[in-house]
Amino acid sequence: MKNQIAKRITCVVAASFLFHSALPQTAVYAAAGQQVQKVEDEEQKGTAGDTSNKQESVSDKTENPAVPDQTPVAKDTNASANQPEPEETDGTANQPEPEETDGTANQPKPEGLQDTEEPEEPGESDEPQNPDKPDKEKPEKPKLGKPLLKAASKPNGTIKLSWNKVSGASEYVLLCSTKKDSGFHRIYSCKKGTSYKDQNRVPGKVYYYQLAVFSKGRASRADSKTVSGRPLEKAELTEISNLSGSGDLALTWNPVAGASGYQILRKNTSTGKYEEAGSVKGTKTTYTDHGRSGGTIYSYKVYAKDADGGRGNYSRAMSQMAIDSSKKMIALTYDDGPSAHTPLVLDALAKYGGHATFFVVGSSVDRYADSLRRAVALGCEIGNHTYSHSNLKNLSAAQVQSVLQATSQAVKKQTGAQVRLLRPPYGSYHTSTSSTAGMPVILWSVDTLDWKTRSTSATIQCVQRNAYDGAIILMHDLHQPTAMAADAVMKNLTEAGYQLVTVSELAAYRGGLRIGAVYSQFRR
Ligand SMILES: [Zn+2]
Repeated sequence: MKNQIAKRITCVVAASFLFHSALPQTAVYAAAGQQVQKVEDEEQKGTAGDTSNKQESVSDKTENPAVPDQTPVAKDTNASANQPEPEETDGTANQPEPEETDGTANQPKPEGLQDTEEPEEPGESDEPQNPDKPDKEKPEKPKLGKPLLKAASKPNGTIKLSWNKVSGASEYVLLCSTKKDSGFHRIYSCKKGTSYKDQNRVPGKVYYYQLAVFSKGRASRADSKTVSGRPLEKAELTEISNLSGSGDLALTWNPVAGASGYQILRKNTSTGKYEEAGSVKGTKTTYTDHGRSGGTIYSYKVYAKDADGGRGNYSRAMSQMAIDSSKKMIALTYDDGPSAHTPLVLDALAKYGGHATFFVVGSSVDRYADSLRRAVALGCEIGNHTYSHSNLKNLSAAQVQSVLQATSQAVKKQTGAQVRLLRPPYGSYHTSTSSTAGMPVILWSVDTLDWKTRSTSATIQCVQRNAYDGAIILMHDLHQPTAMAADAVMKNLTEAGYQLVTVSELAAYRGGLRIGAVYSQFRR
């Protein structure tokens, strides 16, 4: 390590000496080799100053015949500045790389951009690098305004650099580095432009920028302060809770590094377009959307913002039903599935914007995992109905835990959802079952007897006649006639003003749930 440093310093000193002694002041950084001529030709044709992404050189060959065109350092600089740098894709750019550092040290730096980390630079670099410093006293040297640079995040790894129109400027040169104090290289130059989009950067990573402004003939130069830019990573919604209050939806998302705030978008239920719903500042990653209409499903997206008016990508959309505690609500429950008929029930839930609770047998979970995932995505709840429909009264405490755990684990594995409710098969349980299970026992208040009638119309009629605010309805999605009844059941209830909610949602607005307890309804 020490040897490496020593080698580096030697190299740097040698290079600095060579460079400083060979270069007049105006060729302050990154001599450009053959490309210089090309760029100048283009400038003469009036193509410079456009917004294309081409590499340009600051060095003025005409003015600085001493600039060594064949300097290998200069070629390196151009090559690395032209393309996305390999360091950025492998994520190792944060560590000092010997080659890169050497290259950086060999490059003369713009005025005011001296590498403070290099002990050999200060003192000796100032004088040789500014041999014309006394020029500042010459009255004919044109005055330049102060360049102000801003770096704002744009989606997809882009950083938008923008700056003011500087009085007296005839050339703007933008420099970039992955380090704050060194390694700056030219990424863009123009005659009149006031912005540039730096693309294909790594989201989440910090980049540093400087703007150098030159007067005509490069007689004067002014530099901006170093600014940092970071393409913001994508924010992702993690939860939308509909349990926080009447018609309120509480959003939560992952924090994004470098974000100065977040914008929340809500899908307009009539136009289908996402519109601004609200925003939060600072590091807060929650937002409550108040006063939504109960029984309606709302979709949201979120994105991170930065202090310079930039933003990251939109998150994926996430939806949730708003619950109005003043409106009627009812919990439809389906047991013994999932089965081949479950999709019919899910179609109806999607159509009417409802939630239901599926008490599943663990042995069917893997086979119909797609249906369960869809149920979870629709905002439904998955409950536990043992692994193979056991009568819990016939099992020991250890056996009860075993058949329940196997089911909860299968559900978690296939859907990611946490199982929090137990419905014992046959409604058969011990007083200790809920505590043993670590879940409240959920029974029902309306038994449709669908398993017995196997009649679509009988099931529809039974629900319609017996529904009431706070009821828990028992059905079985194992049976096709029941699944075929789902559309009419939900249509009737929705038209009658019911919000179709999960058991946990119903409970949350009607006194809550407790382990060790048994529930069959949640009246107001
Ligand atoms: Zn059952």
